[in-house]
Amino acid sequence: MKIINHITDIQDELKTVRFKNKTIAFVPTMGNLHQGHLELIKQAGQLADIVVVSIFVNPGQFGPAEDYDSYPRTLQQDIDSMQAYQVDFVFAPDSREIYPEGNLNSTKVSNVDLSSLHCGQSRPIFFTGVATVVAKLFNIILPDVAVFGQKDFQQLTIIRQMVNDLNYPIKIHGVATIREKDGLAMSSRNAYLSPSDRKTAAHIYQILSQLKQRIELGEVNFDQLQMDAGKMLSNNGFDVDYVHIVASDTLLPPIHASNGLVILLAAFLNGTRLIDNIILE
Ligand code: AMP
Repeated sequence: MKIINHITDIQDELKTVRFKNKTIAFVPTMGNLHQGHLELIKQAGQLADIVVVSIFVNPGQFGPAEDYDSYPRTLQQDIDSMQAYQVDFVFAPDSREIYPEGNLNSTKVSNVDLSSLHCGQSRPIFFTGVATVVAKLFNIILPDVAVFGQKDFQQLTIIRQMVNDLNYPIKIHGVATIREKDGLAMSSRNAYLSPSDRKTAAHIYQILSQLKQRIELGEVNFDQLQMDAGKMLSNNGFDVDYVHIVASDTLLPPIHASNGLVILLAAFLNGTRLIDNIILE
């Protein structure tokens, strides 16, 4: 496992890899790796000859009042946890390497339709920041396949759309959400929760599962279901951002109430923003 900080160095390494006709799987992360990230890394190893993991806390996707400064940076611990997996290169640039002008990019990649929905309502620059840095990383790494988690369902949808719209010759592989024993989706931000909030946070998945069950049993009044979930979250001490039942391909209100749905949810618990979703096949 080689740790590389500079763009030209990773490009040189990967030129050699491609010259040997080896395929490259890429896992972009912001570090502070947990079992969810490690599952992506594990699956990446099954998809290509060489695995590249990037660790970069991207300033371009944090709003001015968000947690860019306090986001956990644990590079050595991350390197240790990757030792058990096939990781050939860790690309860990600093912010100046990715944004040499220091003021992020003046060229941005933005999905006009999807970026303003759901999480985009309360995080207006987030998805443009994500798509822009992922586009840059794709151009640096030139992977054959890139691996993303379904935990960030809207993000995954936007990346798929970007790859399609901009003709990237890259396959996007989605990985099911890895959860704690009580159902809470693993996330670096869970570390912000107090022990009692950590217990409360398990309600998110319980509420999503209940909603899923009610839809599977035939309920079709999605407004009512969304309101019920919102009330349950509030009653448990959450500040609800949104609960939206949408078509899993368009992320818009479904035309048919039958299949291909996803329930997207975002809520704050004492200032920590948690997101989750559940897919209905
Ligand atoms: P992050 O470091 O939060 O930017 O996440 C890097 C990648 O890991 C993204 O593709 C996430 O969707 C994915 N990821 C984060 N948490 C989980 C999880 N609990 N299960 C599966 N994938 C995850």
